[in-house]
Amino acid sequence: MTDRDSQHRLLLLIPTISYRVADFLDAAYRLHVAVAVGSNQRHVLEAFADGRTVTIDFLDPEKGVREICAYARDHPLSAVLGVDEETTVLAAKASEALGLAHNAPESVEATANKFRFRTILANSGLLTPPFSLLTVDADPQRAAREATYPCVLKPLMLSASRGVIRADDPHQFIIAFNRITRILEQPDVVTLGDTAKYILVEGYVPGQEVALEGLLDGSRLKVLALFDKPDPLEGPFFEETIYVTPSRLPESWQSRITDATLQAVAALGLKDGPIHAELRLNDQGAWVIEVGARSIGGLCSRALRFGAGISLEELILSHVLGLPIETMAREHKATGVMMIPIPQAGVLESVGGLEAARRVSGVDDVTITIPMGQEVVPLPEGNKYLGFIFARGDSPEAVEAALRKSHHCLRFRIGPELKQNIAQSYRHPPEGRTTTTQ
Ligand code: ADP
Ligand code: CA
Repeated sequence: MTDRDSQHRLLLLIPTISYRVADFLDAAYRLHVAVAVGSNQRHVLEAFADGRTVTIDFLDPEKGVREICAYARDHPLSAVLGVDEETTVLAAKASEALGLAHNAPESVEATANKFRFRTILANSGLLTPPFSLLTVDADPQRAAREATYPCVLKPLMLSASRGVIRADDPHQFIIAFNRITRILEQPDVVTLGDTAKYILVEGYVPGQEVALEGLLDGSRLKVLALFDKPDPLEGPFFEETIYVTPSRLPESWQSRITDATLQAVAALGLKDGPIHAELRLNDQGAWVIEVGARSIGGLCSRALRFGAGISLEELILSHVLGLPIETMAREHKATGVMMIPIPQAGVLESVGGLEAARRVSGVDDVTITIPMGQEVVPLPEGNKYLGFIFARGDSPEAVEAALRKSHHCLRFRIGPELKQNIAQSYRHPPEGRTTTTQ
């Protein structure tokens, strides 16, 4: 397709070649939308040598907006979309400057800063645990004495549960605080600026967790999927594993979840485009843990199909470009995805049992996303998964069972770490031994 075939040009902002990029590019191709890729990383831009690429400063948003506007003068844009959390704020600012549909940049900024997010929710009367903000140079002994337990300590702006740690007593608090401080000193985190100098402490909210995938159009929220998370997420680290939709929760709970999400979205002032919300449910009601002004992460969106097989990315692009959308109804089958957790630190040497895992009835696909020979870091320091398992079935129960059975077939050989890294310095594993884990 040439640019002339298309009436629309989309600018996708991507900090790294994330899992999501291929799915967005496929969606653009199917919709006959021309795409330009904007990044601050030369290797990312080089990976798209065939297409249009733009170098954009992600660390200096004002400069980034100027660069996008300069590009748009020669190549008019219909939409600017941030693929990952890191770029949604810049996408909103650039869209505002270009007069395109957008969320208020302050609203998107609040979703990317967990302290601001909590403050807005608390001020709006939503169920919110007690929370307080500490600087990394605070005295952890004193903070631990003053905290109430159980609590959760977390960085303000990381994702995929990186650095999110539960503490049940002052001793665990101090260990968690020091561990997060080390994560905040990592080179990829320090570049995020001042937000990397804080740790948020929140009361622990007990209860079952769900994730809501939605699309905002003005003040209307279309719920695209509500996922149950059937594995307990009780800490000390919060490893996401299985997501299954439709939810098995009674209708009354489902509408409370939608209501709480809508209230949070209104409090934040989000108006347009995809949202991904996480909530916990207990006898006090639905507690919003997080709202992202973006769609679901990793390859998880591949578990969703709409109408006659439309992808989530196609829906999102159609929405932001104002293209007609035939239906937003998800297919009738139950579907699910398992994010395969990293069981231990080391070098991924081999993956066994893949064929058997793929043959499990109901399993659509098993994708390993970490290349062999690459170092893997588990939570709370890491933020990646070994891969993803996708399943479909007649019921959520059948989907969950297929995902578990498939995961049991997999055997990951993880050898010793190449170098002293942050996770190893906490764990001191036996040296020179390769372990195989399921
Ligand atoms: P991230 O942006 O890294 O996903 P979150 O704030 O969403 O960080 O936390 C990750 C996970 O940790 C949540 O999905 C939830 O399971 C758990 N969690 C976070 N905060 C709390 C809390 N206050 N109470 C209970 N669980 C929590
Ligand atoms: Ca989250």
